[in-house]
Amino acid sequence: MKIELESVFNTPGMTVSFAAELPEDHARASGIVRNHAGIVEMEGTATVSQRIPCDRCAEDFDFTCTIPISHTLVREIADEEDDAELTLISDWSWDPSELLHEDVVLGLPPVALCSADCKGLCPSCGCNRNMGECTCVPESQLAFLLRDFPPPEELV
Ligand SMILES: [Zn+2]
Ligand SMILES: [Zn+2]
Repeated sequence: MKIELESVFNTPGMTVSFAAELPEDHARASGIVRNHAGIVEMEGTATVSQRIPCDRCAEDFDFTCTIPISHTLVREIADEEDDAELTLISDWSWDPSELLHEDVVLGLPPVALCSADCKGLCPSCGCNRNMGECTCVPESQLAFLLRDFPPPEELV
């Protein structure tokens, strides 16, 4: 998709809306670009919706995440030190896909869990502890036992 920016840049107070599909990121983004007293700002959200495996128990679940979008669009960058915060618009007919893709990649949480209290897999037998407890000795207790009773040399 393209956003036509010429009239927004030239008309203080003007707002245009945008909506973009990001199939690669399993996301869709929407929001507005507005000229706020001569400063052109892009505001919106991207919503990621995807079936992925939980990082803790490996079961597939429906992951959703909303990521804020906020950028200042400029026609030229005067001070090079500021350019990380500004988005340079070189063409009036602007495709925001690349910028939105970066927003999504940077905005995703480092781990995706099926639920905040996911119990994960048992490190000993590999069973999914959300489905029920196994009979393995809990990790904390195991560490305690190993410390007091180190295993015989041939088992190490
Ligand atoms: Zn899980
Ligand atoms: Zn187990």
